[in-house]
Amino acid sequence: MEPDMDFKPVLGIIVPCYNEEEIIGQNLAILHHFLVQNIHDQLLSDKSYIVVVDDHSKDRSWAIIKKIVTEHKRVKAIRLAANKGHQYALLAGLCEFSAMSDCLVSVDADLQDDIGVIPEMIRKFGQGNEIVYGVRSRRSHDSMFKRISAMAFYRLLNLLGVNVLFDHADFRLTSRRVNEELKNFQEVNLFLRGIFPLMGFNTAVVYYQRKERKAGKTKYPLRRMISLALDGITSFSIVPLRIITFIGFAVFIICLVLMVYALLAYLNGRTVAGWFSTVLPFYFLGGIQILCIGILGEYLGKIYREVKRRPRFIIEERL
Ligand code: UDP
Ligand code: MG
Repeated sequence: MEPDMDFKPVLGIIVPCYNEEEIIGQNLAILHHFLVQNIHDQLLSDKSYIVVVDDHSKDRSWAIIKKIVTEHKRVKAIRLAANKGHQYALLAGLCEFSAMSDCLVSVDADLQDDIGVIPEMIRKFGQGNEIVYGVRSRRSHDSMFKRISAMAFYRLLNLLGVNVLFDHADFRLTSRRVNEELKNFQEVNLFLRGIFPLMGFNTAVVYYQRKERKAGKTKYPLRRMISLALDGITSFSIVPLRIITFIGFAVFIICLVLMVYALLAYLNGRTVAGWFSTVLPFYFLGGIQILCIGILGEYLGKIYREVKRRPRFIIEERL
């Protein structure tokens, strides 16, 4: 189906930003140029804009953003009152600007994701897709470690029954309808990549090559990647809890067998058993128990945070 040529959607580009002073100025200029070009090419409405969500940067980012906002009428910005992390910065942008757009595209401030495919996203949106996922077709610029850990991450999530798209991060187009529905997902532990596939709707995919980060450091060191992975798993899957049940069951069966063995040994008068067979299950069960309590605790912690229903982000300033 050919897109409706008369329909020029109002696009909002959401750019989460945390301590990106080295690149934010330059990348906003690139985005701005891109937006103007596409408005000129009649693909987008003249009302389209860019929103920077400053995740309470501690460097000069906010000062740079402020200056750009005064110079360009198509650039808006909000600043969160505290550093809440990438997912919450994105959520803030999506919730705040949903009503002011036909669709929103989220893209990282480092522009590692190729904005050149946004026109294709817009076309697929025009064809009736409510969500268009950007998927990395090649990640040769990422480090070996990042590629392997990312691969393991997606595999593990799928294995645990979490529906996520392989090699899709947070570069996606979402329609206003989807963004409005997103507001009904009230979870405090946020893993956006898991939420959108849950919604349904007509969706499409565009492929792009992920570029390298030109300057600045990644804000996802190992610690944060593990934390995101845990959030993804425990927010969308209870398979780990099932695994505990299975372990418990297996250990129970083994214990039954050992009980019979112990009874027979007693009846045969061989009651002084070896040191090894006493100490091994002791360590083994101790380890398993602590591990299982840890998994339970992980879920308990989630519930604890969820029931409090604290606000997920607080906006300090709007420009
Ligand atoms: N980011 C954020 N808050 C944070 C950490 C990161 O808003 O606490 C932003 C960051 O500025 C960037 C995006 O999230 O625009 C993705 O971060 P990064 O590029 O460091 O992640 P990577 O591409 O290495 O996975
Ligand atoms: Mg990046």
